[in-house]
Formats: sequence, structure tokens, C-alpha cells
Amino acid sequence: MAPDEKPLTQDKPALSGLPLEELEKFLTPLPPFRARQIFRWIARGAQSFADMTDLSLDLREKLAAGYTLRSSVIAARLDDPDGTVKLKIGLADGAGIEAVLLRDGEGRQTACLSTQAGCPVGCVFCKTGSLGFLRNLEASEIVEQFLAIRSVSPDIANVVIMGMGEPLLNLEELRKALDILTDSEGIGLSKRRITLSTSGIIRGIQELADQGPDLRLAVSLTTADPALREELMPIARTNSLPALKSALQYYQAKQGRRITLEAVLLGGVNTRKEDSAALADFAHGLDAVVNLIPWNPVEGLEFRGKPLREPGAGEIAGFTRELARRGIKVTRRYRKGRLVAGACGQLGELPTGHPGEFETS
Ligand code: SAH
Ligand code: SF4
Repeated sequence: MAPDEKPLTQDKPALSGLPLEELEKFLTPLPPFRARQIFRWIARGAQSFADMTDLSLDLREKLAAGYTLRSSVIAARLDDPDGTVKLKIGLADGAGIEAVLLRDGEGRQTACLSTQAGCPVGCVFCKTGSLGFLRNLEASEIVEQFLAIRSVSPDIANVVIMGMGEPLLNLEELRKALDILTDSEGIGLSKRRITLSTSGIIRGIQELADQGPDLRLAVSLTTADPALREELMPIARTNSLPALKSALQYYQAKQGRRITLEAVLLGGVNTRKEDSAALADFAHGLDAVVNLIPWNPVEGLEFRGKPLREPGAGEIAGFTRELARRGIKVTRRYRKGRLVAGACGQLGELPTGHPGEFETS
């Protein structure tokens, strides 16, 4: 990389975060076809302006003097024997986030992306939540996670917005990132292959219903017992279950897509008979499948003064049976990436250090 192309700088704008239309405006008086060339180079994973061999040397130098391509770097890579890869990514201000490559039984590959550094929602069972909130990610920082994962493995079939943070509290930058990821001139992901998981932010769900983009939606219900949910997920105090259900019905009436209700199973906490009854009740009237996620251990997390624990095999089986008996479609999420703490709810560690400490690629 040329010395004038340091990727981690806060004063030069990162072109990776600009949707094509904005890039065209941004680069005027360059003609729009130049912006398109650059947009395609970024989508192909160019590491520096020097790679853009169909631009004149003079233009490449000018670009490098005024802009950066990327705003983040891969700081570390952790490989789990089960095929999961966790990337720690260093941001220009020294914050750290994580993106994960998941492989399922059939070898399909999924990129799991973060939308915030930390998370303001503060669910008691989640490592990210226990870190507190640092800031929203910029579009460039979201797009670059995808590019980083794709540099590890070129065939990404699906994207899940289920990493660190609450995506619907950063909808503006996420929208831009999704524009870039789905643009057929560039990365060209299909919206149907993107799933957004939310803790149940009602305003955001309504906004998605009205303005799109029409992704797949997953909602982290955890439990449909209102008092328990408020204890486990403080956001539920201002986003009540009845209002959440109405918002989801509104969303489905507009988008017509099946949604996923996620329930992380906490041993001895939300796997009682009455929890399955309440969950089934919530799911009725929605076109939904319930995805059960056995809790992944995070040291130090407690509920009502006792350490949280994983659900037992019998507990999971019993809960699944109860839901099925009530006519609910149930799927179970398999545990992946636990050795690298890359599984759901295990993403964390903030900040990772000063940008100067990172190796650039
Ligand atoms: N903030 C969004 C998306 C990121 S969390 C949301 O909450 O939906 C992604 C999923 O991981 C959520 O369904 C959440 O309930 C689950 N989760 C959080 N901590 C977990 C843990 N320790 N073990 C298993 N799943 C967890
Ligand atoms: Fe935030 Fe999701 Fe973790 Fe809750 S589960 S603290 S919303 S990242």
C-alpha cells in the first residue's frame, strides 16, 4: 500500500461507505462512469487506489491524496475448529467490533455483521449488552465487515445482521450499507438473503414496513411473559409485547413475509410450561417460525443474583415439544464458533486498542 493511503484516518472520507449515487455526486466533476468504475473496484475488494488499473496514475494519486478506500482494518482472525471464523476489526477511532463467518452443515456460508460498537439495549444475557454502548457504526464500517469476511471466504450465501448492536437503532447508516451491498453494479447481494435481527424496536419495525428495504426479519422475543421480558430486556419497558405484536402484524400485512421469532433459552429462567404457552400465544396470528437458541455461556452474567446457565438437553427438548404440541413451527439454532466466542451473544471486547497497533493488510 502506498504511504499516502493509510486506511485508518478520521479526516479523509472512506469511499466504501458511499452508495453509487452519492459517490457520483461526491466525486464531481469526475464523470459518473468514473464513480462507477471506483464503486466496482471497491465491491471487488480493491485494497488501495493503486489497484484500480483502469484509472490513470494521475487520478489514482489524486484520489489517494483526498480519500481513503476503507475506514477499518482486520486486527485479528480467530478460527474455530468447526469452521467459524471471527474477525476482530479495528476502527479509525480505536474502537473494536467483530464480524463472523459461519458455515452450516451443508457448507453454506453466512456473514454475521455488527451495526454498533457495543449496544445500548442492555439485555442481561448478552455479552455485547454488558459492555455498554460506544457508538453507531458508519455505513463504511458495516460494508467493510462484509468485504473482510468475503476476503476470508469468497462464497457468502447469506448475510445476517445479528452481530454487535441493535440494527434498528442505526437504521440510517444501515440503509446506506444495505444499498451498497445489494447494488447490482457492485456487490449485488439479494435482499432475500439478508436477515435483520432486532430486539423489538417498534418504531424501526414500522419504518421497515413503510420504507423497506424488504429483508427477512427476525425478532428476539426471548420470552412472551411481559414481566420477565422487561427484566431480561430493558427495552421491553418502552416497547411492550402487545405493541410489538401489532407492529409485526402491520409489517406482515405490508411485506407478506414469514418472520422468525428468536428465543434464547436460559436454563431455569424462560423454559417453563407457561413460557411455551405465552410464546405460542404470541406467535398465533403471525406467520412465524420460532427459532430456539440455547444460551451460549458468557462469564459473569447473572439474573436475579444467580449466574445464568445453559439449558439442559432435557429442558430444550421439553420446551421444543411443548411449542410443537401447540402447533408452532420450531427450529433450533446449532452452536457454532463457541471456542472463538463467535457465537450469538458472545461478541465483545471494546475498545481493542489504538489504530496504530493494527497491522494493515
Ligand atoms: N441486537 C439484535 C441483534 C444482535 S443479537 C437482537 O438482539 O436481535 C443476536 C441474537 O443473539 C439475539 O436473538 C439474541 O437474543 C441472541 N443472544 C444474545 N446473547 C446470547 C447468548 N449469550 N447466547 C445465545 N444467544 C444470545
Ligand atoms: Fe443488544 Fe441484541 Fe445483545 Fe440485546 S441481544 S444487548 S439488543 S446485541
